[in-house]
Amino acid sequence: MKIQHNVSLKTYNTFGIEALATLFSRFSSVEELTSLLSQKKEKALFVLGGGSNILLTKNIDALVLRNEIKGIELVSQEKEELILKVGAGEVWHDFVLFCVNQGYAGVENLSLIPGSVGAGPMQNIGAYGVEIKNVIEKVEALHIETMKLHTFSNADCEFAYRESIFKRTLKGQYIITCVYFKLSTNTNVNTSYGAIESELNAWGIAKAGIKDVSNAVIAIRQSKLPDPKQIGNAGSFFKNPVIPKILFEHIKEQHPAVPSFPAEEGFVKVPAGWLIEQAGWKGKTFGNYGVHKNQALVLVNYGGASGKEIWDLSSQIVADIYRKFGVELEREVNVY
Ligand code: FAD
Ligand code: NAP
Repeated sequence: MKIQHNVSLKTYNTFGIEALATLFSRFSSVEELTSLLSQKKEKALFVLGGGSNILLTKNIDALVLRNEIKGIELVSQEKEELILKVGAGEVWHDFVLFCVNQGYAGVENLSLIPGSVGAGPMQNIGAYGVEIKNVIEKVEALHIETMKLHTFSNADCEFAYRESIFKRTLKGQYIITCVYFKLSTNTNVNTSYGAIESELNAWGIAKAGIKDVSNAVIAIRQSKLPDPKQIGNAGSFFKNPVIPKILFEHIKEQHPAVPSFPAEEGFVKVPAGWLIEQAGWKGKTFGNYGVHKNQALVLVNYGGASGKEIWDLSSQIVADIYRKFGVELEREVNVY
């Protein structure tokens, strides 16, 4: 719990970008967190999980606090339904593997997402047809000003596509300390996402279980996504835009192959990766950074790039996609 000065954050963000934290510490309980907050009340605060959804464009003149609250506790179990209380500092994928090994269904489609459990509700992490909001019972978070714990029901969290109340209205006001998950011992799994189905078919698995789905997701992800341990990145840099149908029809006239997925009435979801690839950015390299060669949605740092360079590249992509398709891409990554 010692507070350190001028700490390099390079190994604390998966982009591998160099930036200094004026003050840095870790906490592994709510008591340690409140003690740290009381010591540095005047200082700006930055909560860090696994650093897999941030882009650091400058030094962080704040008290950077790494969340290391651990623990997985079975709170209740009734028939097929169970509630687990999980410390926000648990590693997300370790928690998923715990559930898979116990036969608890609900999070297997979210295998191999980097980062911490506590950051999951922040942007309502999602992949392969499932979002964390599907399995969250409630979230406990500490209010930074009052230092009081507050419980948010699933509805209170105002989850939306890669969004929540913590990323919007309450941004910077709360630190998530634990998450309660509602899981099931019923092994009905969700294999509706095309890539999962194809992978399971290729393995000759007709009736998939929780472990099969998790293994399929892990295999697909490992084949498509750059491993941050080898190439710095923060996953999808942009959200998939949800655009008015009329704009979609206009794009389709020029690009009949444009893929789309259903969204709310009058709107269509278009993969941002497809737009970026069509615009010719996929695989483009500028010295030590660029756009990944297999996945145009992922910006990469091959080593030594600055956050400002990655930010400028993302701005060029946003402007180009707007010029070519009339679509305004929104960044998913939290930029500091
Ligand atoms: P950090 O990057 O540490 O923090 C992210 C934001 O949340 C910051 O603003 C931080 O201040 C805040 N924050 C962190 N912890 C807390 C807390 N306890 N309380 C309050 N605020 C907090 N995301 C998906 O949704 N789906 C994917 O499939 C996916 N795949 C990815 C693949 C790769 C290779 C990578 C690198 C990233 C991927 N991501 C994906 C993005 C990222 O993994 C998730 O957003 C993850 O939840 C971030 O967790 P983290 O602990 O690393 O958060
Ligand atoms: P993909 O399977 O190549 O599909 C491209 C995009 O089309 C996806 O982003 C997805 O949107 C959408 N899509 C595909 N099939 C869909 C379906 N049946 N229903 C609704 N939407 C569909 O995508 P990918 O890049 O390999 O990623 C696979 C999954 O992992 C996606 O869910 C993606 O979000 C997730 N992922 C997220 C990150 C991140 O950092 N956020 C990084 C890597 C992967 P959605 O994104 O809305 O699902």
